[in-house]
Amino acid sequence: MGIRTGAQVLEGLRDGRQLYMDGTLVKDVTKDPRLAGGARTMAQLFDMQNQPELRDEMTYESPKTGERVGMSFLQARTREDLARKRGMYRRWHDHTLGMFGRAPDFVNVMLSSFAAGADAFGPYAKNMTAYYEKARDEDRIATHSLTNPQVDRTHNVAAQAKDLAAKAVRETDAGIIIRGARMLATLGAYSDDLLVMPAPSYPLPNTEEAKAFAIGFTIPVATKGVKLVNRPASIAPGVASSHDFPLSARFDESDCMIVFDDVLVPWENVLMYRDIEIFNSIYRRVHAMGAMGHQFAVKDLCKAQFMMSLAFSLVRTTKVDEFLHIQGMLAELINSVQVLRSCILTGEQEAELSPVGVMAPAMGPIGAVRYLFPEMFRRSCEIIQIIGAGGLAMVPSFAEVNGPLAEDVKTYYQAAAADSTTRIRLFRLAVDASMSTFSGRQQLYERYFAGDPVRGAGNLYQGFDKEPYVARIKALLERFEREEAAGL
Ligand SMILES: Cc1cc2nc3c(=O)[nH]c(=O)nc-3n(C[C@H](O)[C@H](O)[C@H](O)COP(=O)(O)OP(=O)(O)OC[C@H]3O[C@@H](n4cnc5c(N)ncnc54)[C@H](O)[C@@H]3O)c2cc1C
Repeated sequence: MGIRTGAQVLEGLRDGRQLYMDGTLVKDVTKDPRLAGGARTMAQLFDMQNQPELRDEMTYESPKTGERVGMSFLQARTREDLARKRGMYRRWHDHTLGMFGRAPDFVNVMLSSFAAGADAFGPYAKNMTAYYEKARDEDRIATHSLTNPQVDRTHNVAAQAKDLAAKAVRETDAGIIIRGARMLATLGAYSDDLLVMPAPSYPLPNTEEAKAFAIGFTIPVATKGVKLVNRPASIAPGVASSHDFPLSARFDESDCMIVFDDVLVPWENVLMYRDIEIFNSIYRRVHAMGAMGHQFAVKDLCKAQFMMSLAFSLVRTTKVDEFLHIQGMLAELINSVQVLRSCILTGEQEAELSPVGVMAPAMGPIGAVRYLFPEMFRRSCEIIQIIGAGGLAMVPSFAEVNGPLAEDVKTYYQAAAADSTTRIRLFRLAVDASMSTFSGRQQLYERYFAGDPVRGAGNLYQGFDKEPYVARIKALLERFEREEAAGL
């Protein structure tokens, strides 16, 4: 089959999935006004793969079928492969301004890493390889769920008084039966498949009770007994003009709780089961983090460049870039872009073949992006608010441009360097990027999408080889002592 078109992707989403939103079942995620914008964006991404001029940049030949498949599935073997992958990520995330963070490349990279290190899945290695090849060769979209619902975080999932998290409740000849809930499936509305895996920050204790929670599998979203509960849309349908929330209308990628109502996972779809050691160490064993971090660092760069471009455009309208403190904030945005770019390129330059034979970007610079970007993005929203000031609160619906006050709007919404129509469209874009419900969710996403940054930072510190640095300070103090003793 190879790469799909946007139309094929949309057709695939009309599969009878049980997706609930605002208290009712959504009949067709591609047509429902709350979800159709995201579906259209997804279709555009797949159509890009089919553009003849982008073919070599976005696809490669499947080693199994010889057909063109998505570049994000490529298991990089060289630094040139990493650069090719970067080019593909850029195409998708420039198109979505880095605001559709769960474009399918995110999970595709994860799958390619899992498959490269498939032996780490022990008895289920063949299943892992088979699913990767299916996803790649049929161009499937997967959402992933790594964590358990927030109930009582002071106890591990196997020791909760309220036992709500998804677990294997029994097995049959056909497979394992899963009951309970999982969070948080971004892109659930637009995915063909659901991938359940462990989260690096939530290890299980090595106890008998915990084994039921040591599960990893993949199933179609439309499997019997799977129910998705989608949060409300970033904008309620019925806003006066589609220009009012241009990002929300396009890039709201959906976030879902998943409920498993005695769902049968066939044995051939099981990726891990009852093995705590594999469950707790899989990411380390497959060396996935560098490849995954590389993908989202490129997404971050695209997003930072968009926010910088938006700020440059805003300041020109009212000429506030003549003020020094505004220039200082614009310089911050420029520096953020430069830091992200440098981290990505250094990560590629210092990449090394991992023990499973994949060219893995260096975790130092790539991992740094994970910790720096949430604050960079939050700050870019703040800078746009400071620059736009009251203009962001005052900007009317775009519907006013053609409303009964059209003449007043044309006159009074002008800025020094923009007519009123341009100014209103630009400021509506700035509102949606920096202070809307959509923007708030983007800020939350950047903080948490890759796990808990607090525990991640703790792991980074604990795993970092600090000894040479401590030894350096010791040597320095000794040198100063010697110099002082010698009267220097
Ligand atoms: C917008 C968005 C999209 C997401 N998309 C996905 C997705 O597609 N797939 C997916 O699997 N996950 C996704 N996530 C979930 C993400 O994996 C989790 O948010 C993240 O792992 C943090 O877990 P939590 O939200 O349950 O927070 P909690 O673990 O409940 O933490 C809440 C707070 O308590 C602190 N805390 C909790 N426990 C401890 C502890 N033991 N030690 C120290 N501090 C602690 C945390 O630091 C945090 O400040 C998404 C999250 C967001 C916000």
